[in-house]
Amino acid sequence: MKILVVGTGAREHALVRALSLDPAVTALHAAPGNPGIGALAELHDVDQLDGAAVAALATGLGADLVVVGPEAPLVAGVSDAVRAAGIPVFGPSAAAAQLEGSKAFAKDVMAAAGVPTAEPRVVSVAADVEAALDAFGAPYVVKEDGLAAGKGVVVTDDRDEAVAHALACLAKEGGRVVVEDYLDGPEVSLFVLSDGTDVVPLVPAQDFKRALDGDAGPNTGGMGAYSPLPWAPAGLVDEVVETVARPTVAEMARRGTPFVGVLYCGLALTSNGLRVVEFNARFGDPETQVVLPRLATPLAGVLLAAATGGLGDLAPLRWRDDAAVTVVVASHGYPGTVRDGDPISGLDDAEALPGVHVLHAGTALRQNAAGDDDAQVAGGHLVSAGGRVLSVVGTGPDLAAARAAAYAGVAQVELDGSHHRTDIAAAVAAG
Ligand code: AMP
Repeated sequence: MKILVVGTGAREHALVRALSLDPAVTALHAAPGNPGIGALAELHDVDQLDGAAVAALATGLGADLVVVGPEAPLVAGVSDAVRAAGIPVFGPSAAAAQLEGSKAFAKDVMAAAGVPTAEPRVVSVAADVEAALDAFGAPYVVKEDGLAAGKGVVVTDDRDEAVAHALACLAKEGGRVVVEDYLDGPEVSLFVLSDGTDVVPLVPAQDFKRALDGDAGPNTGGMGAYSPLPWAPAGLVDEVVETVARPTVAEMARRGTPFVGVLYCGLALTSNGLRVVEFNARFGDPETQVVLPRLATPLAGVLLAAATGGLGDLAPLRWRDDAAVTVVVASHGYPGTVRDGDPISGLDDAEALPGVHVLHAGTALRQNAAGDDDAQVAGGHLVSAGGRVLSVVGTGPDLAAARAAAYAGVAQVELDGSHHRTDIAAAVAAG
């Protein structure tokens, strides 16, 4: 099977890595990928938001399957373009990706499907902001309607901060905000594969969205994750499948926009029961980095089955007993204004450790200058090029071992000014 993966992040590196371990995969390509992905797949310098270009590349390669990683190409219609070219694609249409692209749309689908979620109020004019906030009270939850790379949500007790965020979102072109009930309780991410009709859940993971230890600081794209969740209630996966995933997939099919790909269910286990915090239309980053190493079933056939309406015929997925923990190494300044171009070293030393592998996110190769002799990767120096730079993954027989491996790997990484959380999976590994 020849597979083209679209995207540039650690999630796509995790997907490519898992696909590279599948004997059914004969060729791997990525557009545009990153230097880490380049060690496992042939890279193609194609704009990931340009559906026609991605479809032309996939056709030229004779790809049997295209896997679209990030949300932006999905919302831009890249899957539609590939599907129109007659190539199976794992990833929803632009219409179905609105489950992630618009929080107001997602709330409408959830209401129609009877899926439990926080009660929302959609605000589109500044004059209505304060009344909406006061209708719910503190803590205030204010969400930008459109895509914001995990950074459009403010949860705060500070009414002035809530008002300021809402007004900033409304000031954007066509801006709308969603104000909603605060959901208490721990959060769980569950990925559910869908072929438009049938659904197959993966295993739950938990991510750490705040920038700093102790869940302090601003929300980020995600600073770390772990799986399994020993504390999760028995029956959680079945409950999510029956009360969230199946009704949502059925409602999308009823609307004539079937959802094909992975429905990322972001859930809160509140004192009043399970609630959906958010849907995403793609694999989560960083949760993918801890879910895929635990999957024993070869990945390519699973994704192809989802892309081609075959999930109903798929044998049950097999999972390893291993645990996995990932720690994100972020650039100086992240999640604010980041500094690019800092040299990265120590990755080989990290990967020489047992149970450690390093996935690239915001990395780039800078050409070696004449006389350089310290190239990390053939062809150039590895440098930082984005907010989240690396995702260091540890695996082991239990969470304590996986966590120790991940942090041993992080300790080998050198990146000037970088930061990472020191408490990823700390409480659960101790308990
Ligand atoms: P979202 O982009 O909707 O997932 O929101 C990002 C993060 O903000 C979530 O993972 C939660 O940690 C937090 N959050 C979002 N909605 C709520 C809510 N209604 N109550 C409490 N926290 C929330």
